[in-house]
Order: sequence, then structure tokens, then C-alpha cells
Amino acid sequence: MTDTSYTPLPVARIAHYHAHVYFHDAAERERAAVLRDQVAERFTVQLGRWRDTPVGPHHLPMYQIAFARDQFAQLLPWLMLNRQDLTVLVHPNTDNPRRDHGVHGLWLGAVLPLKLDILPESNADEAPEIIQPNTTPSLTP
Ligand code: ZN
Repeated sequence: MTDTSYTPLPVARIAHYHAHVYFHDAAERERAAVLRDQVAERFTVQLGRWRDTPVGPHHLPMYQIAFARDQFAQLLPWLMLNRQDLTVLVHPNTDNPRRDHGVHGLWLGAVLPLKLDILPESNADEAPEIIQPNTTPSLTP
């Protein structure tokens, strides 16, 4: 697909990021729990609650890590090295949730299907999501 009229989006459109850590079964959930603790020990992020049943556009259980732009350069490579074979979707948050999940995101591990049709193409009329870190890291990534 080539759209010659496409205007590049400025990076400033990214308010923050999400990383969704998926798990299929109890063994993967255990690894996801270890990963969650390790992230909390190393990064200033907002850890979302466990979602043991699929929610929103996600077909698998998961939890979300929300993080500010200044965490990206450290957290992404750390997840590359330490995701313990779990599938992780990292996506930016602009004002277009459907594109953020379906086009702008990157996958560590398998690419999983998403229910993109339930996501709006604009959330400009919603209150912006504010990241409120709930970790107190003590270790260097
Ligand atoms: Zn998300």
C-alpha cells in the first residue's frame, strides 16, 4: 500500500506508550508475573491490573505497562532481552487508538490478532490518559 499523499506524523503526537504482556496458560502467567516484578524493580511505569479474561481489543489475558516517552529507549531493549518468550505488544498512544494498536505497534514474539473494529479512530474528545507510575525502581536496567 503506497499513499503518496501521506503526511508523516510528528513524533510529538505520541503522548506515551503501552506494552501489553500476554499469557496463554498458567506457566506463561507465572513468567509474566516474574517479568512484571522485574519491570517494577527497574522502571518508573504504571503497571495495570491483571486481566485474566480478554478485555478490549485483546484476545488473550494480559496486563498492561503504561510508560512515558522517556522510558522507551531503556524499556524496549530490556523487554527484547528479558521477555521470557512471552508475546508483548508495544504501541504508542496518539489520538487514534485503532491505528496505534493495528498499524503503529510493534510485536515482540508472535503477532496476535486484535479486535481492531472495537477501537475508535479518534479519541480526541476523551479526557487524555495520564500515566501515574506505581513502581519504585531500585535496580539499574
Ligand atoms: Zn494499549
